[in-house]
Amino acid sequence: MAATPSNPPRDATTRVTFDPDTDTDWAALRTLGHRMLDDLIDAQQALPHTPVWRPLPPAKRPLFQKDGPEHGVGAAAAYELFRTHILPYGLGNWHPRFFGWVQGNGTPLAMLADMLASGMNPHMGGFNHAPAMVERQVIAWFAEWFGMEGASGLFVTGGTMANVHALACARVTIAHLRGHDVRSEGVQSWPGEQAQAPLVFYGSRETHGWAQKAAEWLGLGVRAFRQVPVRPDFTMQHELLKDMIAADRAAGLMPFCVIGTAGTVNTGATDDLNALADLCANEALWFHVDGAFGALAALSPLVREQVAGMERADSLAFDLHKWGSMPFECACVLVRDAAAHHAAFHNSASYLTPSDRGPTAGGMYFNERGLDLTRGFKALKVWMQLQADGVDKLGRIIAQNVHQVRALVSQIDAHPELERLAPAPLNIVCFRYRPIIHGSASLSSDRLDALNRELLSRLQERGIAMPSSTIVDGQFAIRVAHVNHRSTIDDMTALVGDIVELGREVHGAQTAAP
Ligand SMILES: *Cc1c(COP(=O)(O)O)cnc(C)c1O
Repeated sequence: MAATPSNPPRDATTRVTFDPDTDTDWAALRTLGHRMLDDLIDAQQALPHTPVWRPLPPAKRPLFQKDGPEHGVGAAAAYELFRTHILPYGLGNWHPRFFGWVQGNGTPLAMLADMLASGMNPHMGGFNHAPAMVERQVIAWFAEWFGMEGASGLFVTGGTMANVHALACARVTIAHLRGHDVRSEGVQSWPGEQAQAPLVFYGSRETHGWAQKAAEWLGLGVRAFRQVPVRPDFTMQHELLKDMIAADRAAGLMPFCVIGTAGTVNTGATDDLNALADLCANEALWFHVDGAFGALAALSPLVREQVAGMERADSLAFDLHKWGSMPFECACVLVRDAAAHHAAFHNSASYLTPSDRGPTAGGMYFNERGLDLTRGFKALKVWMQLQADGVDKLGRIIAQNVHQVRALVSQIDAHPELERLAPAPLNIVCFRYRPIIHGSASLSSDRLDALNRELLSRLQERGIAMPSSTIVDGQFAIRVAHVNHRSTIDDMTALVGDIVELGREVHGAQTAAP
């Protein structure tokens, strides 16, 4: 159709795109891009000389309360806002003295790989392109390293999603064996039908909070998550499981899955995974292992034994954005029975119909193995880091962290003012400051909690170091969860010194108070 005067032809003056318009504009973007790269690399190099955390100054807050911009300020000015208002005010998890919440650091190479992934911007629902092969290859690598050769898998946002996918798969598979088609019937009984036996699953009381979310989200309800008591070392009392399962069956429930944890979030305890694998085999239950960070222990001869039995899991969830050092988000679920994985998630939509040739060959491989349709290219950073350094280096970093935690543990145990609150088998240590008090009873539990809470706040707020906290046996604990590839042994020694110094400071202030 001919263009009319009121609808002018698209040309250089009216055409709109997010690309730069002219060669000069492209050159300016290139310069800006190089500058971003320099700034980010400078920032990473300078980390040891910066505070772990600093608050966003009040004067900088108004930027984050402004209305959405109707018109832009240009790329250079937008970047300047990032550089001055955002970059210096992160939580600090890329810093060598960050030890909180099992948050990883990221790596410089993976940062660049994320840029490549984002620039190329492949859609990772499936189809026939090299990025899809990268993801399948990385999954195959980890399946082999974790002793689950041939397993199917999927990259997802985090350990929570990886675990939920595994549990969903377990539910469909085991219920199907018992004649219950969860995919079509759901878990609710409709009027006039015989009620379905409620599905229940098991894990220790130290199981991460994802299990509760999963029970809610999968429509099972939190009561379907049966919590098994733990021993003093925080591993599951798995001997109790057999009777719990029998009692639940006798009560008309349908057990379908047992979760073993490789590295609990609180203390790094690992359940007896071989015992759980045996039990699941005897009881015809799905054996899932939550190895969010702990699975990676299998990559180091130093601690591999701790997660023995993990390779017998029906499904395994692990994060690479924790002990794998990858930038967020990067986690993975493996399912031993590839057909069961597909059967739990496959779907067919007319607009996604594959062909047996060309770009759509293979269909929506990833979409048929999980919930997400559109997915980003998370696997590239993993692939590149491993191509560059090999899995051997990852294993050595894991061993290094364990050695550093062991050194920290010896310093804590040797110090009269520090008290460890839990075993530290892997890379997590829970402890507290406990002042020496002469001639009177020691501090009450409440006062010790308050002292350590205040101490930790000062340590964090002053940007000195960033452990987090937890409650161990009802007591407030400073918790070092160490997945930091940037820390040195000196960082550990400094941490002990800083905590003792702050402990004395806080205790002195509390004692002086009227
Ligand atoms: C961190 C963690 C999770 C959750 O993983 P996200 O990546 O934070 O979603 C699950 N289980 C354990 C044991 C964890 O440490």
